[in-house]
Amino acid sequence: MSKKKYHVETLAIHAGQEIEPNTLARAVPVYRTTAYNFKSSQHGADLFALKELGNIYSRLMNPTNDVLEKRIAELEGGAAALTLSSGTAAIYFTITNILKQGDELVSASNLYGGTFTQFDAILPNQGITVRFTPVNDFKAVEAAINSKTRAIFIETIGNPVLDVSDIEGYAKIAKKHNLPLIVDSTFTTPTLLRPIEYGANIVIHSLSKWINGHGTGIGGIVVDDGKFNWKDPKFALFNEPDGGYHGLRFAQDLPEPLAPLAFVLRLRTVGLRNQGPTLSPDAAWLFLQGVESLPLRMERHSSNALKAAEFLKKHPKVSWVRYPGLKDDPANELTKKYLPNGAGGMVVFGLKAGTEAGIKLVDNIKLFSILANVGDAKSLIIHPASTTHSQLDSESQKKGGLHPELVRLSIGLEHIDDIIGALDDALKLV
Ligand SMILES: *Cc1c(COP(=O)(O)O)cnc(C)c1O
Repeated sequence: MSKKKYHVETLAIHAGQEIEPNTLARAVPVYRTTAYNFKSSQHGADLFALKELGNIYSRLMNPTNDVLEKRIAELEGGAAALTLSSGTAAIYFTITNILKQGDELVSASNLYGGTFTQFDAILPNQGITVRFTPVNDFKAVEAAINSKTRAIFIETIGNPVLDVSDIEGYAKIAKKHNLPLIVDSTFTTPTLLRPIEYGANIVIHSLSKWINGHGTGIGGIVVDDGKFNWKDPKFALFNEPDGGYHGLRFAQDLPEPLAPLAFVLRLRTVGLRNQGPTLSPDAAWLFLQGVESLPLRMERHSSNALKAAEFLKKHPKVSWVRYPGLKDDPANELTKKYLPNGAGGMVVFGLKAGTEAGIKLVDNIKLFSILANVGDAKSLIIHPASTTHSQLDSESQKKGGLHPELVRLSIGLEHIDDIIGALDDALKLV
């Protein structure tokens, strides 16, 4: 498959699958098995000692998940990937695969609500300090980096104000300090943006959103570019003997073909094996279904969202609209560079009449579902300040750029005239 360089649309349908030789099943089968037979005790011993790679137990690896991992890794231009039980788990286990007690993370402050809380309230309890900096403020990033910093974290399009990250700018700083750049690319997916091409080292997705595409499952994935230098002794988890793995030093002792995969191998053999955030193969199968049509769907999400944003922009009751694809949006210069094929499905706006009017619109709009999700085929609406981001105090909401009146839309795949019609009708009521 990977010998020839196929386009994204082709990889989305074919990458990572080899037809299973006994059944010749064309679709990827769901391997509902907990464990796998060893050919002999010696075979089992070799698998456990990593002398040979192969299936042992489904907490660690599963052939359905394996196809999804290979497919997303190829789509991202990465070396390998690992699925986890949720996007949230993918972020948590990525951070704790690199940082230990006493280490620090520098993160953009415009984050998905759950990620902000993980960084702001959970990681500090484990002795990991997170220093938040305003998105694309590279002076602040430089100032936040010190001898304890071990990684930089950003989202491609930040929550909830939809600023576009200047990935190359972050990558330059990360490289200078030999820090891995971790990018949550959930809002853009590999069909609109491939952060590794701009210098990211680790790309994370919540599979629950556009990759699934139909609001039917929770999952996450981490892609490793396979190029980061983990031999730097400041990465203690990669250079000190691992007590859980026969004293293995992941950056030093792996045989040559596996050496570039130190990050993702450690994530699998330490994070997944001993902490257990495994994705079920049934969910992996749903995400494989989603990936096949992802390029088509992202195109339509993006064109529908642009039209909805243009409609709102012109509406007399609307005070402001943010959509990175709008020509006069503050993020539009970065959009031209990073998102030439579409700026995704999210639109946010505020009403001149303020917060209460926004909530009234949410409560009265037809067609849109009020719920805390994004990336469904169905159009979705929510008032973040009172829901998804309500665990943040108003100071933190402001730091993340969340206006109290902001209404968030995840534009679906319905006919654009129906989407705009629903917005128009709801605006008449406020
Ligand atoms: C949804 C989401 C997450 C969390 O993913 P779950 O699968 O819901 O755990 C993280 N980051 C972003 C940008 C998201 O949209």
